Amino acid sequence: MSLKGVLYIVSTPIGNLRDITLRAIDTLKEVDWIAAEDTRHSTKLLDHFSIRTPVFSLHEHNESARLNHIKSLLDEGKSIALISDAGTPLISDPGYFLVSTLRQEGYEILTVPGASALIAGLSVSGLPSNRFYFEGFLPVKSKQRRERLLQLKNVDATVICYEAPHRIMDLLQEISDLMGGDRRVCIARELTKKFETVKLSGVDDLIAMMNVDHQQQKGEFVVIIESANKDGKKGGDNEIAPETMQLLKQLADFLPPKKAAQLVSDFSGVSKKQLYDLLLKLKNQ
Ligand code: SAM
Repeated sequence: MSLKGVLYIVSTPIGNLRDITLRAIDTLKEVDWIAAEDTRHSTKLLDHFSIRTPVFSLHEHNESARLNHIKSLLDEGKSIALISDAGTPLISDPGYFLVSTLRQEGYEILTVPGASALIAGLSVSGLPSNRFYFEGFLPVKSKQRRERLLQLKNVDATVICYEAPHRIMDLLQEISDLMGGDRRVCIARELTKKFETVKLSGVDDLIAMMNVDHQQQKGEFVVIIESANKDGKKGGDNEIAPETMQLLKQLADFLPPKKAAQLVSDFSGVSKKQLYDLLLKLKNQ
């Protein structure tokens, strides 16, 4: 039996404090230490639930420096709960370096799951939730951001991003420019808080709405972008994106139809059979 302590990865609310789980409260009270992204920020939550456990900071700038300290606490049999400012640690938040290192070294790491803005946003968006791609924060610099958006344009899944309020309008405009003004986007704003609003619409309509109502540009946002393949299902979609079609035709010029269909299927997610049938149809026309 291991005498080492356990590292718990504990989710905290993304707004409404009552979204904390009973197990999270128990864990935060019972562990020897809490490692918090921002100790001052977490004081509000900890005070609210009368949690008196000592706290130290673990943020992106000291994560690796804290590693030995955390390891020695765990080696002494002490248990630690990692929390971030909101939601689930490691999800666009610190903790990956710590967890990956400790996992490799055989330490016990347990989850105390709960809220995460991406899942909360997706679940109320009205966009396909069967397959999704979480991007997190896009690059800040315009050139890299636009390049990344171009890569995301044809992802065969609903795409979820986080965005800061001072960049939200720029992001929507870039989505319009690069993916088209009628691409449907859901803005899930201030989830679980007083001014929660969720709007789903073509991106140009969203921009117009938010330009009229400036209040809608404030707060925290999850941006959820509809897939170019609208039903979000792998295969089974009768509409094939023009880029996919073009690639298929080009490859079919110098590859056997089966091979071309296989390659394009791997790339696009459209079923191999659908692409193969299409090539045969084109050949017979
Ligand atoms: N770890 C968190 C999670 O599990 O969702 C995310 C942390 S990340 C640093 C913060 C970003 O998450 C915000 O900028 C915003 O994009 C999103 N977010 C967090 N809380 C939110 C809320 N209540 N409503 C909408 N978006 C939220």
